[in-house]
Amino acid sequence: MNARLDHRNPLVFDTHELGRRPGALQRLSRSVPAPSDLGIAGVIAVPESAPVELELRLESVMEGVLVSGTARATAEGECVRCLEPLTREVKADIQELFSYHDADDRGRPKAEPGDDAEDEDTLFIEDGLFDLEPVLRDAVVLALPMQPLCQEDCAGLCPECGVRLADEPGHHHDAVDPRWAALQGLAETVKDGEKDDMDGAGFGTDEKQEK
Ligand SMILES: [Zn+2]
Ligand SMILES: [Zn+2]
Repeated sequence: MNARLDHRNPLVFDTHELGRRPGALQRLSRSVPAPSDLGIAGVIAVPESAPVELELRLESVMEGVLVSGTARATAEGECVRCLEPLTREVKADIQELFSYHDADDRGRPKAEPGDDAEDEDTLFIEDGLFDLEPVLRDAVVLALPMQPLCQEDCAGLCPECGVRLADEPGHHHDAVDPRWAALQGLAETVKDGEKDDMDGAGFGTDEKQEK
């Protein structure tokens, strides 16, 4: 955390106006472009540069600045069952203390046993500035579903042919004597071929077909 903070970075906030008098309060709203990889990699995330609406409350306390509020954005991903693209409104709760270096030096002796883990997580105010980005990241990840679904009861894909079951209510395959299954598969390939281009190579699972 030695890199100097850049006040032009939209996720860097200035506490000079707030001042250091404990109890001082400042509310602010800011719309910022989402940093890259804001979300759960490969599952669901806020697209880079998409707007993130921040509503924050900065409160001056003895040891630093307590930041609380919300971040709202729209995340994009795909359903884990049927792979349909989906979007989610995210409302992430933010609550974090940014400490003054001097307060930390003074108030908390370094060799406090059992305090190491906490120390590593401590976020600091640098030259009156603090960087909300790591806090925003954690908050957004927490607010996102690990297993997003297009709908609560998404039935997923047909295990036999890969069709999206929600698109075809009542979709089923007649249970067939396994000895006939191969033949039936052949017949279906021909049927599909008639609809499309007769190339019959795709035996079995159709890749997800856009209509
Ligand atoms: Zn789904
Ligand atoms: Zn099927």
